[in-house]
Amino acid sequence: MADRYLSFTGTAPGRFLTRRLGLPQPAALRRWSPQRPVLDGGLLHLTAGSSALDLAPVLARTGLGADAGRPAAVVLDATGVRGVEDLAEVHAALHPVVRSIATSGRVLVLGAPLDAADHHQAAAQQALEGFTRSLGKEIGRGRTVNLLRLTDAAAAESTLRFLLSPKSAYVSGQVIEVGTGQVQAPADWERPLAGRTALVTGAARGIGEAVAETLARDGATVVVLDVPQAEQDARRVAERLGGTALTCDITSGDAGEQIAAALPDGLDILIHNAGIIRDRRLVNMSADRFGSVLDVNLASVLRTTDALLGKGVLRPGGRVVATASIAGIAGNTGQTNYGASKAGVIGLVRSLAPRALAEHRVTVNAVAPGFIETKMTAAIPLVIREAGRRMNSLAQGGLPVDVAETHAWLAHPASGAVNGQVVRVCGQSLLGA
Ligand code: NAD
Repeated sequence: MADRYLSFTGTAPGRFLTRRLGLPQPAALRRWSPQRPVLDGGLLHLTAGSSALDLAPVLARTGLGADAGRPAAVVLDATGVRGVEDLAEVHAALHPVVRSIATSGRVLVLGAPLDAADHHQAAAQQALEGFTRSLGKEIGRGRTVNLLRLTDAAAAESTLRFLLSPKSAYVSGQVIEVGTGQVQAPADWERPLAGRTALVTGAARGIGEAVAETLARDGATVVVLDVPQAEQDARRVAERLGGTALTCDITSGDAGEQIAAALPDGLDILIHNAGIIRDRRLVNMSADRFGSVLDVNLASVLRTTDALLGKGVLRPGGRVVATASIAGIAGNTGQTNYGASKAGVIGLVRSLAPRALAEHRVTVNAVAPGFIETKMTAAIPLVIREAGRRMNSLAQGGLPVDVAETHAWLAHPASGAVNGQVVRVCGQSLLGA
């Protein structure tokens, strides 16, 4: 369902009228395309506090020029902020430049992990979160603001590239932590997944189809898994992407075995995307309705992950990315089943991530979409749909490709130090903020 309000505000009378009435002013977001792979404009590198980060060589590889007259991206290295007094430098660095940042530009604040032995450092570093999220809410014009905590710039290269590119158009107000784990730079940054096999569940349509498409764009061989009823669509998607289709109901007890049998050479990337909703308020919700959502969205994710890790189907250097939802963070009326299942996904990721990395060299992360324009959200009644679209800092819904780009970043061979993260793709939705 097209966002007519967004189209209207893109016209001169629409802009005039909505400004006069004080209504939201969504900007047309700049997304990745092969013709325009990087942001239009320069990169401005600022520092607050005394930083020990070796950032310049990594930033030089982002593809953004040094012309900072009207920056498309501003990176503020605040890893050296150790006390409240240093926060004045954060203000001094960004205050003069915010106005000049281009439409759909990026502000990326770099922070350090919180120091448990130094409450002054922890206070100042935590302050950066409130700063980042507040700036994200006020900056407007399709610009995003995120906070990346890191200690090693080289280990964060894929993340820096993602957050400073059009691929992260709908990711704002996020705090992401990158560790120091093993990182494998791809031979070709344009096709980082070449030679890798990816399986995407629920990929016959919607977000899953976009994920399969984006991973294939990045060079992966994709396996498009969906239920037998969706076989035709699954085949169509697989054919278009040069991959294969696998019909399988992931709730069946032997789904792990079916997947393992279809992948005799193993798997590098497992994307848990299949999901269902069966909304009712708890007073009206049958046990079946409750249980079926937990089974598809959570129990099958646990079962197939265990099976594929346990059997060694997921190769070392592999990636598991599960799909949560902002409903799993904020809760939602009529979604006790769905909210529980998606919160469960977050619990699974946080607990399994360190062990999977230590024992199997596999990272485990989650993507939590907000309001994404799909068949699922097109079915929502108009008023609620409009609220969902506008109640975020970018004042619009995201597209399936926005979620897919986030999966592709987490699946990247150079994202080996990104583990146990839950990244919202929600335009900084007010829900679960
Ligand atoms: P969708 O309904 O369009 O697609 C889901 C796909 O999963 C379908 O192709 C379906 O056949 C498949 N599927 C369902 N049950 C399955 C099973 N048992 N075995 C195998 N495949 C199965 O949904 P979507 O909007 O593309 O959502 C994709 C994921 O993103 C879901 O996990 C959803 O909960 C999550 N999500 C979506 C939004 C949104 O705004 N659309 C927001 C937050 C989270």
